[in-house]
Amino acid sequence: MTSALGAADAGYDVALVEKSDALGGWAKKMYKQLPQSYPFESIEKPTINSTIDEVNSHDKIKVFTSSVVEKIAGVPGQYDVTLKTNGGSEQFKSGAVINAAGWRPYDAGKLDHLGAGNPNVITNLEMEEMAAKGKITRPSDGKEAKRVAFIQCAGSRDANHLPYCSSYCCLTSLKQAAYVREKNPDAMAYILYKDMRTPGQYELFYKSMQDDPGVMLTKGDVTGVSEAPGGTVYVSLKDTLLGEEIKIEADLVVLATGMVPNSRIEVEELAEWKTKFDEQLTASGGKPDPNAPLEPHKVPNILNLDYKQGPELPVLEEAYGFTDSNYICFQYESRRTGVYTAGSIRQPMHMMGSMEDGMGASLKAIQIVEATKNGYSVHPRAWDQTYPEVNLQKCTSCKRCTEECPFSAIEEDEKGTPFHKMSRCRRLSWVMS
Ligand code: SF4
Repeated sequence: MTSALGAADAGYDVALVEKSDALGGWAKKMYKQLPQSYPFESIEKPTINSTIDEVNSHDKIKVFTSSVVEKIAGVPGQYDVTLKTNGGSEQFKSGAVINAAGWRPYDAGKLDHLGAGNPNVITNLEMEEMAAKGKITRPSDGKEAKRVAFIQCAGSRDANHLPYCSSYCCLTSLKQAAYVREKNPDAMAYILYKDMRTPGQYELFYKSMQDDPGVMLTKGDVTGVSEAPGGTVYVSLKDTLLGEEIKIEADLVVLATGMVPNSRIEVEELAEWKTKFDEQLTASGGKPDPNAPLEPHKVPNILNLDYKQGPELPVLEEAYGFTDSNYICFQYESRRTGVYTAGSIRQPMHMMGSMEDGMGASLKAIQIVEATKNGYSVHPRAWDQTYPEVNLQKCTSCKRCTEECPFSAIEEDEKGTPFHKMSRCRRLSWVMS
């Protein structure tokens, strides 16, 4: 939504495609949000509803809810987008594409060792729902929870689950500790962490929560979660700052589960899909056939690009399923010129980070609309903004260039001859031949 507003406020027409029947995503489920401005000390009422209203009422933004992208064909500056909408279809031209398809929570059902399955062990998302409904209680008997333990890195930074830091969950637990204290000033919150990671200015929020005597933070590795008498839960820790093993008795345990990008395919699925895709590609002479009986790439199924190099953005194993983007050198860019990624599909981040990211991606999208309109090469790597010269006289149609161009700038015509899609070219070399 921030991307859409950024581009629309700059005067560009925007189509916003939402799979579900309403805008807002996870942010709409939050009881409160992290502070958005200095002094970054107190949680705030969510601003998501005003953002939704702003989007819905903007005369430059057309919102398609209950809709998915069926196909994106064409080239930067001139994409042909086909949507499957609620009961119909829609087609329009677009100059650039931003993929902000977000994330899903890690499956807490895989965290038996942290007490998953115990009714009084819930996830951080369930905590949001509970807080929004009213009191913080024990699900098993509805009694008010006076001691709430938060287990950090629940599945994250764990080679058996998500090897990376999900970046948002320390802050989420600090925010939810504030819920516990706000709802019942006599209640205690215990945050059990491996390391506290509060990026940027949120260090100030961390400090403000440390000052609350009802919030105890301690470092350690959780070694077990078990039922205790009377419906409470024991959480055992070792290697704590105190240098000894401790056991905390809590009414409610909250698992700070991590963030999985919606671009991530589980490893087994990826292998299965890749095999089928390769088989289909071989059978069709190297051109993806949209009508082939290929299972449409289970997950992700977001952009459906009509590109030789495949229908979705490349997802590197070493990027843990986040969309490929070198965030240090080429923020928001993907290996599909004109297609950008923003927010937690690109890397784990909190809401304010996603909003900044969305705005950055919309500026990139604007650049490409303007570059192609004026006949310039888009984000050229060699400092030459002209389109390359092509010399096909010596071409043997070996297809090496069409296979190797990382931006899918060279595809093949029906005879197998290279066909250049110039505005996808990033000018990695001076002359293409
Ligand atoms: Fe663990 Fe905190 Fe990183 Fe989440 S943000 S994975 S809880 S260190």
